[in-house]
Amino acid sequence: MSLPNRPTKILCVGRNYRAHAEELGQDVPTEPLIFLKPPSSLLANGDAIRLPRGAGRVDHEGEIAVVVGRRAHRVGEDEAFSYLAGVVPANDVTARDLQRKDSQWTRAKGFDTFCPVGEPVPLDPEEWPDLVVRTRVNGELRQEGRVSDLVFSLPFLLAYVTRIMTLEPGDLLLTGSPPGVAPLQAGDRVEVEIPGVGTVENPVEEASA
Ligand code: MG
Repeated sequence: MSLPNRPTKILCVGRNYRAHAEELGQDVPTEPLIFLKPPSSLLANGDAIRLPRGAGRVDHEGEIAVVVGRRAHRVGEDEAFSYLAGVVPANDVTARDLQRKDSQWTRAKGFDTFCPVGEPVPLDPEEWPDLVVRTRVNGELRQEGRVSDLVFSLPFLLAYVTRIMTLEPGDLLLTGSPPGVAPLQAGDRVEVEIPGVGTVENPVEEASA
């Protein structure tokens, strides 16, 4: 399968792994902390992440993402998986200094090339709880997370989000970053792998002036 269309929304969840919240010096939220990345931030496997000039530290956040299969509005947790078509590795690239500077994250999360996404495969609800995501930079393991470590489960997230906004087929939901976020440098290659699902791998370059 492939992403059917440019999504109308890329929904993300912040601090959805306890250990990642701790490494940022933040508390785990008591309800999901959600934000959006613009569809213009999408990047295909193999294309270059561009580091914005003057943005300071830019981090990888390797995450497990899901693709919405049909219009989802006020979905119940018990039916959540029937609204989801695919699972895919994604990288919620983040300009960390700008995230700390701004009171909301549109700039820090929204640059062009800041959302590498791989090729989705069908989502098997039976296999979902066992999925793992690993992020490597230049072959070195930086992050590892498990679905079982998510603070808010996928069915809970889908029910929560679709009480706020309707999700359309092709929309993406990124489930949050495990610990180990670290800066990217020009010349790096960053790879987010969900074993048994796929990989998205991208070189890192300075943006042109
Ligand atoms: Mg993230």
